[in-house]
Amino acid sequence: MTMNEHPVARRLLQVLALLLALASLLVAVSAAPAHAETAAEKYERLRKELEAQNQQLESIEKDLKNAKNTRSALQQQQTILKEQINTLVAAINEANLAIQEKQAEVDAQQAAIDERWDEFQMQMQAMQVMHDGGAVAMLSSAQSLYELLTFSDSLQQVSEKQNQVLEDMQAAKAELESRKAELEEQKANLETAQAELETKQGQLSSNIQQLDSTISKAEADKQAQQDVVDATEAAFEQAEREYEQWIKENSSSGSGHISDAGWMWPLPGQSRITTYFGGNNGFYSGHGAIDVAAPKGTPIVAALSGVAYTQSLHWTYGNMVMIDSGDGVVTIYAHMDSHAVSNGQAVVQGQTIGYVGNTGRSSGYHLHFEVRINNVKQNPLNYVSYS
Ligand SMILES: [Zn+2]
Repeated sequence: MTMNEHPVARRLLQVLALLLALASLLVAVSAAPAHAETAAEKYERLRKELEAQNQQLESIEKDLKNAKNTRSALQQQQTILKEQINTLVAAINEANLAIQEKQAEVDAQQAAIDERWDEFQMQMQAMQVMHDGGAVAMLSSAQSLYELLTFSDSLQQVSEKQNQVLEDMQAAKAELESRKAELEEQKANLETAQAELETKQGQLSSNIQQLDSTISKAEADKQAQQDVVDATEAAFEQAEREYEQWIKENSSSGSGHISDAGWMWPLPGQSRITTYFGGNNGFYSGHGAIDVAAPKGTPIVAALSGVAYTQSLHWTYGNMVMIDSGDGVVTIYAHMDSHAVSNGQAVVQGQTIGYVGNTGRSSGYHLHFEVRINNVKQNPLNYVSYS
């Protein structure tokens, strides 16, 4: 048994192939720059990517909606056209019936004329026998009734009545034929109108077909874009998990109590709280900290002594410092204009660790001050107060 035939080995190869495919997908999605990317740069890049992708998606969705609206308008037109064509076809059928009827009337009239003519000829022959030759013999073979009539006075009297009857009959037939011709003209007009409508219908169908293909393409584009957005969002969530992991890794755990003299308000001289713990800061509700407004550059001090850890331009927190004070007590200071400490540096209570800014997900100069005990967010006002 070769390796390929072994069931376990085969399964292993399948899994390996799947992993390779996934890995290439992830590489394609993240398209990281050549230099080593910091976590903050990654967050920022992902945030921008997602924004652009969402905009693109919105634009595709708008196009799609427009195309669908146009298609539905065209389909309505098509329905109306179909009704119009059906009406025309019914009218043409009616005209055909009327023409057939008229033709039958013409034929009947012709038959009546022929019958009358035969009667007349028989009368002529009878007269020929009676008068025994002469002009009558010659005239009986005449082709035309009119020829016959103009030739002989003796025949004039005999034929006058017949002549009148036949003329009336011919006139009636001519009237019928003229009526039939009118009907045929009406029918021809209806058929022209039908042909025009059918041409229009053909154009509409072709327009709808083009739109259908535009719509399918837009739908495919939308799906592709949605996939990209989903992948970016997944990467985003991954980045958020990594951030939480970073806090967890740099946090102690323990009693949650502080052994020294207590806490210090982190923003000396600034007491205006703009968002409380659990409030809505304009981006989301359930705010896990307090926001304190202050002018740009106001010094931020450590509320407790401990070890400082920093992140630069995090997509949410901007330039931020976290201080682990031991026993599971962590304080976080976010949206700084700049740091005044470096990553891993020991700091003492009251020491300036940074300056008020407006970096990250922030709409105005303020300090976002967060307290975590054993990595659970606490209301900071249970620990600090302005003094
Ligand atoms: Zn905040």
